Amino acid sequence: MAEGAEKEDVPVFENIDVNTKPFHLRSFRNLWLEALKPRLYSFSNTDPAREEVELMQEMGISPETLEELKTICSTDALRSHPEEEAPDPDVVPPEPKLATLKLRKKRQDYKKTLLRESIGRHDIYANEMEMLALGRKPEDPTDFVQEGEMILTFNVLYPVLFERFKYVRAYQTLLVLGSQKLSELRDGICCVSDLQVFGEFSSTPDMVPQFISKDHYKSAFFFFEGTFYNDMRFPECRDISTTTREWAKKNDFPEFKSTKMEDTTFYDLRLKVGYPYLYCHQGDCEHVVILTDIRLAHRDDCLDAKLYPLLTHKHRVATRKCCACHLYISRWITTNDPHAPSEPCLYCDQCFRSLHYDEQGNKLGDFNAFAYVDPGAFN
Ligand SMILES: [Zn+2]
Ligand SMILES: [Zn+2]
Repeated sequence: MAEGAEKEDVPVFENIDVNTKPFHLRSFRNLWLEALKPRLYSFSNTDPAREEVELMQEMGISPETLEELKTICSTDALRSHPEEEAPDPDVVPPEPKLATLKLRKKRQDYKKTLLRESIGRHDIYANEMEMLALGRKPEDPTDFVQEGEMILTFNVLYPVLFERFKYVRAYQTLLVLGSQKLSELRDGICCVSDLQVFGEFSSTPDMVPQFISKDHYKSAFFFFEGTFYNDMRFPECRDISTTTREWAKKNDFPEFKSTKMEDTTFYDLRLKVGYPYLYCHQGDCEHVVILTDIRLAHRDDCLDAKLYPLLTHKHRVATRKCCACHLYISRWITTNDPHAPSEPCLYCDQCFRSLHYDEQGNKLGDFNAFAYVDPGAFN
């Protein structure tokens, strides 16, 4: 590889502490693999004996010196007594006579009363997401992540739809493998607008169709570095970037390219780390997508390739409760509703039906009703 090309593929900051200049992911990975010894990114544990030999060579020391160093640096050297003799400073005798121990016991008893058994649900949840997949190995050996594979961390932000959360924090964090297709990341992103059901159902509340927007409107694209990557996997997919590209052409912008996301892997891309890119689906549901980290897979990572894209963080949303019972999550949204305290108004299924229909199921009064999917449905 030419000197100049090498430098181009090493990420350097474009805006200090914000984002890098674009670099080609596969070339950057190749530079890593050239520079590192294979055992450094190998998933098998390195042999300690071999490490010792290498340490002796590197530091130029004899085996005797190494043994001495091992004894001096051992954690056992930190003890003042042998383990069995040392009294545990945290154990206070049940009925102490010494005043200091009495005080200590009083303090300990008080502390015990402060202990709570339950952990906050946010803490439980955080552990679940982060830890569940750690070190996971696949059942089928063919599903192993390759050694030297790259792991990319993407933050997918809230769509502008949720004004309240626009500037707050990542909606979800996903890890993808460099060899995965862009369409696999698209399938890993869950967004409430994929679950909407379109139509007005006040006259036929039992006829709400089962299909959701995701089954109906399959077009979507990522926009990375001047190229639209369209999802064209299904016959009903359309290139929804056409309007934008034609508008850009008419208005003297540099020409944007368009290609298929299912034909592109992340290794094929030139990206900036820390730079906001776009994911658009359902016509106008737009998400900012940021590549926040890029690294080689480690043996402690989840090694089951099937589990990628791997969700590691999801922001929790408060669910919106029914305006009548304030208890259940809303399923219906009404407009022009004379029974409603607000416009528009949210109801759970039960309150909606008992307030808007008689016992025979006849519609009472004039109003519009739409199926509602709560953003907290993914919690
Ligand atoms: Zn969305
Ligand atoms: Zn209710």
